[in-house]
Amino acid sequence: MNNANITRMSALYAPTLKEDPTDAEIASHKLLLRAGFIRKTAAGIYTFLPLGKRVLTKIENIVREEMDACGAQEIRMPMLQPEELWQESGRADAYGPERMRLNDRHDHEFCLGPTHEELITALVRAELRSYKQLPLNMYQIQTKFRDEIRPRFGLLRSREFVMKDGYSFHDTQESLQEEYDRMYAAYERICARCGLEFRPVQADAGQIGGAVTCEFHALAEAGESALVYCDCGYAASDEVGEGLARPTVYDVPEMQKVATPGVHTIAELAEFLGIPESSTVKALSGKNDEGKLVVLFVPGDHEVNEEKAARAAGGFTILTDDDMEAYGLHKGSMGPVGLPEGAFVIAANSLKAVPKWVVGANEDGYHYVGAQLGKDFKVDQWADIITVKPGDCCPKCGMELKGARGIEVAQVFQLGDKYSRAMNATFMNKDGKEQPFIMGCYGVGVSRTLAAIIEQHNDENGMIWPMSVAPAHVCILPLATGDDLVQPAAEKLAEELAGLGLEVVIDDRKERAGVKFAEADLMGWPLQIVMGKRGLAEGKVEIKRRATGERRDISLEALSEALT
Ligand code: ATP
Ligand code: MG
Ligand code: MG
Ligand code: MG
Repeated sequence: MNNANITRMSALYAPTLKEDPTDAEIASHKLLLRAGFIRKTAAGIYTFLPLGKRVLTKIENIVREEMDACGAQEIRMPMLQPEELWQESGRADAYGPERMRLNDRHDHEFCLGPTHEELITALVRAELRSYKQLPLNMYQIQTKFRDEIRPRFGLLRSREFVMKDGYSFHDTQESLQEEYDRMYAAYERICARCGLEFRPVQADAGQIGGAVTCEFHALAEAGESALVYCDCGYAASDEVGEGLARPTVYDVPEMQKVATPGVHTIAELAEFLGIPESSTVKALSGKNDEGKLVVLFVPGDHEVNEEKAARAAGGFTILTDDDMEAYGLHKGSMGPVGLPEGAFVIAANSLKAVPKWVVGANEDGYHYVGAQLGKDFKVDQWADIITVKPGDCCPKCGMELKGARGIEVAQVFQLGDKYSRAMNATFMNKDGKEQPFIMGCYGVGVSRTLAAIIEQHNDENGMIWPMSVAPAHVCILPLATGDDLVQPAAEKLAEELAGLGLEVVIDDRKERAGVKFAEADLMGWPLQIVMGKRGLAEGKVEIKRRATGERRDISLEALSEALT
């Protein structure tokens, strides 16, 4: 009889490797390959083998449960997206070469969706018509495509990956804030249920846009982001400080026309200004005396408000939201959207020491002319700039900040009306007026989370799965297969445990004990039950917890009790 909860190693397709694959640098990538969870199809493109697929499904289900519990509704949008939608949103060029584009036989342009803001905005705009239908939150769990410049680290940065992406629609900012908070809390639960040690981190809105956003980082040495955090709960990534914009980098060749000689890095800038290098950075925009747009980077000192900064900077007018839009900027947002041609970008690292050159921004020699964030400043280079460093004072409580590396597993955004306005997606509000939707979006990197879990749960022998996402809960290792006593006893135990609702693997292969032990450790089953002839004669088996290595003998009777 076939019990769906019992897996036989003799039948399982999980080809293992004895040696570390040479092209894998980090634990999750090595182990996923070695334990036969995934196989590479092309650079950044992987097949999930049965064990990998099982874990993926478990993570998906945790995400699904948490989303459904919040009242979000699951849908499935196409992966193939018509190019027109991206033209409409204005993101066609801004998103850049990460978008995989293709044409159909009629030469119509499409892309393989890297994210779905455009698609869902177009989806609801004809039929979600009244504030009475709001709020609405819909999500999908689906394959995404991004032609990453450097696909690497296996599932951590791949070109085809699984993401849960959700989008919410609101009539008021308050309603968006409520949903954002609800999603934030759900994301914390998702990370916790996946067994991750994580930190919610202030973040940059990247290509998605929007003003308020938070990234969830799994702490791991393999992480690509440098984080600072404080026990009081404050955390920030190196990519961004307190505010919205990333600080700028000055070593782009095109920027050699940069007016301030010898200033190519934040360190040099700091030296030039005679101020400490580290500080959280906040972006403010203003018009200078000539009416040109000026972006001023100032520290994210909580005392600083925009008016004060404007006064300190002299000659600046802080842009209103309408001004921002006139400059093609999203309301309240700065770096990610890009600045219009001809904008001035200047930087100050400390407001207390706003230097004369900031005030004199119109004079030659004190500003960058024609700089466009995102175009002139490449994202990769931004990442090198650390504006808040370990050892700095926490901007919230003043204690010393600690450093860590993190893997961005999820992100929540308040999009505002960036997409609904651009794509003319409106509804009838309470006052009977047409109004663009106020939107939020929420993403979890499902396949990246799988790798992040391994980064946090492994040792020199292999993976160590938390129960909640393990490909199976318990592995039975009969050491004398074919034996009249051991094999039938193992089968019986497997049936019993499966009957208790446990997912059971039985290593029924005619392999040496050493091979079975090594592979069981490699695959990381949370519990192993070793059945040998001698023990069984006394009615005993050995149970081993993979996480602690703790082993003990236990009678078969006591076993089912212990496992439930
Ligand atoms: P990153 O900063 O690592 O490039 P992102 O900020 O571009 O990620 P989002 O647009 O916020 O990614 O997408 C939501 C989630 O999708 C991310 O938090 C991450 O977990 C996951 N993700 C993004 N890019 C990849 C990728 N190339 N491979 C695997 N997962 C990814
Ligand atoms: Mg990215
Ligand atoms: Mg990111
Ligand atoms: Mg992100």
